[in-house]
Amino acid sequence: MAEVRPDEVSSILRKQLSGFDSEAEVYDVGTVLQVGDGIARVYGLSKVMASELVEFPNDVMGMVLNLEEDSVGCVLFGESSLIKEGDIVKRTKRLASFPVGEALLGRVVNPLGVPVDAKGPVNHEKFMPIERKALGVIARQPVKEPLQTGIVSVDAMIPIGRGQRELIIGDRQTGKTAVAVDAIINQKYTHSEEAKAVGVNPVFCVYVAIGQKDSTVAQVVAKLEQHGAMEYTTVVSAPASTPAPLQYIAPYSGATLGEFFRDNGKHALVVYDDLSKQAVAYRELALLLRRPPGREAYPGDVFYLHSRLLERASKLNDSLGGGSLTALPIIETQQGDVSAYIPTNVISITDGQIYLEPNLFNAGVRPAINVGISVSRVGGNAQIKAMKKVAGSLKLDLAQFRELAAFAKFGSDLDKATQRTLAKGERLVELLKQGQYMPVPVEKQVISVYAGTQGYLESIPVKDVKRFEKELIEYIDVNYPEIFKVIRETKTLGDEVIVTIKKALEEFLGKFKK
Ligand code: ATP
Ligand code: MG
Repeated sequence: MAEVRPDEVSSILRKQLSGFDSEAEVYDVGTVLQVGDGIARVYGLSKVMASELVEFPNDVMGMVLNLEEDSVGCVLFGESSLIKEGDIVKRTKRLASFPVGEALLGRVVNPLGVPVDAKGPVNHEKFMPIERKALGVIARQPVKEPLQTGIVSVDAMIPIGRGQRELIIGDRQTGKTAVAVDAIINQKYTHSEEAKAVGVNPVFCVYVAIGQKDSTVAQVVAKLEQHGAMEYTTVVSAPASTPAPLQYIAPYSGATLGEFFRDNGKHALVVYDDLSKQAVAYRELALLLRRPPGREAYPGDVFYLHSRLLERASKLNDSLGGGSLTALPIIETQQGDVSAYIPTNVISITDGQIYLEPNLFNAGVRPAINVGISVSRVGGNAQIKAMKKVAGSLKLDLAQFRELAAFAKFGSDLDKATQRTLAKGERLVELLKQGQYMPVPVEKQVISVYAGTQGYLESIPVKDVKRFEKELIEYIDVNYPEIFKVIRETKTLGDEVIVTIKKALEEFLGKFKK
């Protein structure tokens, strides 16, 4: 790109532009001064709005990002090689927007809403701007319904409420996507008649893939299809092969679709996988637009990039329909460094974090969640009473275990009480291991956690814990189905049902073959 000073060139262009018929046209039409690397600098367009879509030749769309005195900086959503200096640019007078509607469910679309799944055009209801001001505090209410992920350690100890923002953070290949995808798959039960009967409203999902390999995105879509989750899910795909501007807007597009459901009194779950890559795409744009680089070369407003996105997650008050938008942003760390710029930003914006660790992952503890440092600051309100009752001691037991396990490494003689705490902890860690794509309904989670914390695993060898759990659930399903039914319907763990649970557990312990 040759060095061109826009102010010098503008005088020349002004002469050429005087050929236009009316003054309005001069405001609404511009000329390309410079183009390259997905960026165009345009002269004219003096009435254009920030974030407005503009039209270049050859069907290339662009979006205005920088409003300067003599020119505007646009990002291009298509090939910059199709544009050349002197090309005419037209205003659309439309902010960048995204098609919304139930018709988007089951579809894979790009961040502009164009389908990329060869299933034909989408019959959307309307367009909504991708950038909207987040709702104020008056329009909201505290979270109160659970968003069950089906992952026992999350639902028991790091519970997420509808309307919450919970960050999933960890190094590469630690199972971040797996946690989010399992949460989406688990929403299947919310669309069933059974859920409706007990007052659980359906959750519609949006999975936003940013800067990932095409094959990884295809795999996630295939898994969602396979588990019947695409019926209520839209995938917004901006893989690494798409231009940086599309990767930059993808999360806002996803949030817009989530807001469509929320504003109609429904519930939405939006996964942003991942925001580190979005920040990198934004840094690239900002540097090309010559915005001054700051810490780690990110532009100064990179905090705003994520705060305005995550602020859109919300639980509406009842007069607005009581809908919700839950956000699960994902951040990738480098060698566990959570104090880097982008991770600290997003940690400070969210209502809690799920930390995934490579050493746990490699030791076979999967999901590799470090429950000691993971938190959910608001979801506890939303947890069902039955789970709250059993999960309290689980957290405590695991904390005691972690503390003692560090000491036990020194190999000194351990007293009986310490040995018991260690043995219990080992069994609980084993109990919380969970395969991918195997979400557990909350009533079954309650029984597993109850068995673990009330000492029923004491006599079971660690290697048999998972089999014990599986066979126990099957045993109760066949012989005491009323236990699951009562927990599902009343959401509590009354004295009566506890008596039945104890009876079932004693019986099963006698039958279990070690
Ligand atoms: P990336 O940084 O590449 O995005 P990630 O952190 O999103 O990775 P995943 O892709 O979710 O990680 O998982 C990494 C690998 O671990 C995958 O092969 C996945 O199948 C496997 N995995 C994830 N969770 C589990 C689990 N609970 N049990 C067994 N395997 C798992
Ligand atoms: Mg991933």
